[in-house]
Amino acid sequence: MNFPPRPTRADIDLSALEHNLRQIKSCCSETPGVLAVIKANAYGHGAVAVGRVLENAGVESFGVATLEEAIELRAAGISTPMLVFGGCYPGQESAFVRHDLAAAVCSLPDLQRLERFGRDHQLRFPVHIKCDTGMGRVGFLPAEIPPLIDLLTRGSGVEAVGLMSHLASADEAAPEVTRRQIQSFREMCRQFAAASLQPAAVHLSNSAGLVAWQVPECTLVRPGIILYGSYPAPEFRTKIDLRPVMTFSTRIAQLRWMESGCGISYGHIFHTERPTLLATLPVGYADGYNRLLSNCGEVLIGGQRAPVVGRVCMDWIMVDVTDLENVAVGDRVVLLGSDGGQTVSAEEWAEKIGSISYEVFCSVSQRVPRHFSALPVT
Ligand SMILES: *Cc1c(COP(=O)(O)O)cnc(C)c1O
Repeated sequence: MNFPPRPTRADIDLSALEHNLRQIKSCCSETPGVLAVIKANAYGHGAVAVGRVLENAGVESFGVATLEEAIELRAAGISTPMLVFGGCYPGQESAFVRHDLAAAVCSLPDLQRLERFGRDHQLRFPVHIKCDTGMGRVGFLPAEIPPLIDLLTRGSGVEAVGLMSHLASADEAAPEVTRRQIQSFREMCRQFAAASLQPAAVHLSNSAGLVAWQVPECTLVRPGIILYGSYPAPEFRTKIDLRPVMTFSTRIAQLRWMESGCGISYGHIFHTERPTLLATLPVGYADGYNRLLSNCGEVLIGGQRAPVVGRVCMDWIMVDVTDLENVAVGDRVVLLGSDGGQTVSAEEWAEKIGSISYEVFCSVSQRVPRHFSALPVT
């Protein structure tokens, strides 16, 4: 492109990412390795850049949701072991082998298919066996473990390189569900060991799990959200020191004095009640600025908060800057992030839209260019 882009952008602070990884490692010193979760374009942060930084920082493994996500990373030269959580769909087997990927496997028919593929191609297809210890989503239930073990010990076309499960409520105050899940996982590990199956990778804990629980049987933890500097729940703030990685910003496109009584944006759900200095910003729900922030979002301009007024449009929002000092066209506006000692966190935003920070990050759309900070030379 030989022209400058629209000023709406997401800045990704790669040294904050490294900081968060260090915090994770010191938090679970009993677990030797990290499987960094970089699915969904690294929660919207840019999977290739994030993957390169984490690979250089020495993470043991990566987790992604789909084969396509894994191939994008491999094409960028990322060679760290990689697990596809979503599994291997029929017809994808050769691509998994070609790109050196392991698949999470959740059912006997899928395992049988991969075992047959492995035998037909004289290889052992690498799988992580996913157990359902209480998530109620996918995976082998406790009753399915004996036939599973039978197939794993007899079938030569597949190798269980990993044993995994997923926590349903580690971010919540009630510990009973997690305690039961850990017990159930331990029992499955014991059944594997009794059959002389010793997967090298044993992993259970997501971000909330690894901060709040130690599971010594595990060889890996699977952090996602905390890598990106967001807390699974408010009470985690005191337990681990994280730095937000993403700053989502734009610049003021237009400033106008509007008379009292003007309807603002679609549906006129806001009317000015005084002469109002209105700033129009080139960002909207097509960029990931959620429409539920209509009349309730806040942005930062020169370290001051300004309220979103009227409906969020596809490509624009309006903010009331009447009470702010020194505002001009072209001024930087922080939508998500910190400015002059003020912060609009992903958590604050999530609460307003009835969601979680995960969805806030994932929603920042493809249309928003990501800019990556250079890492300090060490
Ligand atoms: C997304 C995901 C994670 C990461 O969860 P966070 O809560 O972001 O840490 C871990 N494991 C699996 C299987 C996942 O799908």
